[in-house]
Amino acid sequence: MPVTRDPLTEVADDVFQLRLPLPFALNHVNVYLLRGEEGWAVVDCGIHYAAGEAAWREALARLGLGFGDIRQIVLTHAHPDHYGMAGWLQARIMEETGELIPVQLSEREAQFVEVVWVGEYQQAAFQRYIEQTGVPDEQARIVADSMGHTRRMTRPLAERLTHIAADSVIKLGGRHFRAIHAPGHADGQLLFYDEADRLLLSGDHVLMKITPNIGVWQHSDPDPLGRFLASLRALAGLDVRLALPGHRRLIEDWRGRLDELLVHHEARLGHTLDALAKGATTVYEVSLHVFESERFTAHEWRFAVAETLAHLERLRLMGQAQCEGDRWRLA
Ligand SMILES: [Zn+2]
Repeated sequence: MPVTRDPLTEVADDVFQLRLPLPFALNHVNVYLLRGEEGWAVVDCGIHYAAGEAAWREALARLGLGFGDIRQIVLTHAHPDHYGMAGWLQARIMEETGELIPVQLSEREAQFVEVVWVGEYQQAAFQRYIEQTGVPDEQARIVADSMGHTRRMTRPLAERLTHIAADSVIKLGGRHFRAIHAPGHADGQLLFYDEADRLLLSGDHVLMKITPNIGVWQHSDPDPLGRFLASLRALAGLDVRLALPGHRRLIEDWRGRLDELLVHHEARLGHTLDALAKGATTVYEVSLHVFESERFTAHEWRFAVAETLAHLERLRLMGQAQCEGDRWRLA
């Protein structure tokens, strides 16, 4: 029997980690609750389904809190596992206090919310994007369907979004954090750094064991991998005692983990060039080489394909790969 660890733990003074369930292969997301004199702040919210609601209710009961004790909702980024329950939490808080508190996030992530969660689902356009990568038709259809399913788990939509500017200082619970823009996994992701305690809320930018997905999607800013690698290098200058990530274990060796991620992508760029040298031409064919040993469901293939495209785009900008239409080759 695996040891099940407590989903609710105090990870720093007045900072609690809550591990919420997810209905995916990556089966949990870490969100954080910070205690302050004027109430609690929540950073990231989980995806909305019954098991997520139950986990929130249980955690608040154990802390002796009602929803009304939450005075701030902040998001590192707007992917469904972080944004999905923001609207539901807002509604629960409003029931208890009569007040609609805002959901705070970067302007770029608020824009992502508008396009991807609020705007009507452009299934045909998404399917075309997936097909251009050379993914077999049947797989493209499953991927497009699974996107519709994910959208349903972001309802009710959050009602009032306000922006956090990069480099601004924000008080969460009893601590002051500087917001740091960290693009790559999400264009507008923000990390929150408490310099006094050398504590970093690191979102999905840096994770243990798994590497955050860096992908080119329909609405991505160009060259996410280039921006991600530049951000990792810049963050090596940050003095971090403990980083609190959106998934998996806490990060104690900050610089060591940054180095591992840089090495990982260097190697993956090499594997991507190898695939082109062996004659792979579509993004999907390249991904089959790069992710050779891994097993994915159709839902997970879209991450593999988007990640492959990010590496191809980086190589193109480095002058090592070329693209004509949907076909790739060595430069
Ligand atoms: Zn996540």
